[in-house]
Amino acid sequence: MKAHKYLEAAGISQADFLQGPTFSIRKTYNKLRGDFPKVQSRKMLCNNQGCPRWIFIHYLAIYGRLATKDRLIKWSINCNPTCPLCENWPESNNHLFFQCPVTHEVWEKILTWQGIQRQIYTWDQEQRWANKHAHGNNARAEIYRMALSGCIYYTWKERNMRVFQQKKKTTAVLVKQIIQDIHTKGEKKPRNAKRLRELNFYP
Ligand SMILES: [Zn+2]
Repeated sequence: MKAHKYLEAAGISQADFLQGPTFSIRKTYNKLRGDFPKVQSRKMLCNNQGCPRWIFIHYLAIYGRLATKDRLIKWSINCNPTCPLCENWPESNNHLFFQCPVTHEVWEKILTWQGIQRQIYTWDQEQRWANKHAHGNNARAEIYRMALSGCIYYTWKERNMRVFQQKKKTTAVLVKQIIQDIHTKGEKKPRNAKRLRELNFYP
């Protein structure tokens, strides 16, 4: 069967394909298609007024490509697995965005600042929520996309500052910095500027 290499790449063995009594075309298609929410999440990166470096780090976070400590350890790089932000849990993409108590607090404040009252979800659920509620062209959705990218970028930057330079910022300083940057970037567009005038405060 010529297709076997594609099926194996998608995690389906030739034996499963030929003999499995519960073989499903839909399941096979979904496996071959890959992770659809990730493709949808790319919409978060388009029409996003955040800086290119925010969007680049956001892209790496969507695809789990940041050099987090769990990945470094898988590559046999010897390092302390602990998250440098909370100094309590192992560092991973899912932990940093936003299960870590430090980034959880920052993201919660950034949501409150936007008038969004909800719990913080896991990284996959956060992406699904954003895809569902912040894909439009209105000011609220555009500011949300910027806020998410900014929060991811400043999380990664703060993580690197603590690992490589032993420098630390408080969550209050991080929240202020993200909001100030969103104002600077967002006010260039009249529709967003109007909404940002309503958000002229720190949570
Ligand atoms: Zn942590």
